[in-house]
Amino acid sequence: MRLPPSLLVLVVLAIGGVAIVAATTMDTPAGAEIACPVRSASVVLDPGHGGEDSGAVNGTLRESDLNLDIANRTAALVRAAGHEVALTRDDDTFLTNSERGYIANACRATVFVSIHLNSFPEPEPNYVMTFWGIDPKDVAFTRHMIAALHPTLDSAGTGLGNGDIDQFETGSLLRATMPGTLVETVFLSNPAEAALLGDGTGRRQQQIAGAIAAGIVTWLGR
Ligand SMILES: [Zn+2]
Repeated sequence: MRLPPSLLVLVVLAIGGVAIVAATTMDTPAGAEIACPVRSASVVLDPGHGGEDSGAVNGTLRESDLNLDIANRTAALVRAAGHEVALTRDDDTFLTNSERGYIANACRATVFVSIHLNSFPEPEPNYVMTFWGIDPKDVAFTRHMIAALHPTLDSAGTGLGNGDIDQFETGSLLRATMPGTLVETVFLSNPAEAALLGDGTGRRQQQIAGAIAAGIVTWLGR
């Protein structure tokens, strides 16, 4: 027996319950197999780029690798504070921006943070920004995150300018249904910043991770 779609939904509602239907029909694309990699993760971190998309490049430094390193460090700090964390990717894999948001939805996360490094054709700019996708869903969290990031990263003596927030209509923030932000932490195109990120100690990566984690943990603890 073939049922018309509307009737099928009613049948599924009767059998499976409202929550499952809502999750599969509204928060993820029809037919896509998108699962949360960590059960009951309240925080989803998204290392930007990956695979064929390296993001910004400066010498041997690739944004996609650095984002993953910073995300892993952030995850460790957030887990140590008692929150379950999932990453949208844990290796050098390509994901579309929409897929990243759908993974956050599959996790039913409380917050979603996409981690990036900024880049500019000229070497001078180096400042931190956080971006929101949907107002009001993302704006308060995005403001909270810039307040957490800016003093910490600027105090590293790299001459970061004033942090600010702006809108960036990326697929990940538009798809994710929970408060989300895209953090452009520092400029990989800035020579002083690239020197810090490439000094082999991981100290700068840990500092960036510490600022992101502090912002997430204080937001969850409000
Ligand atoms: Zn990026």
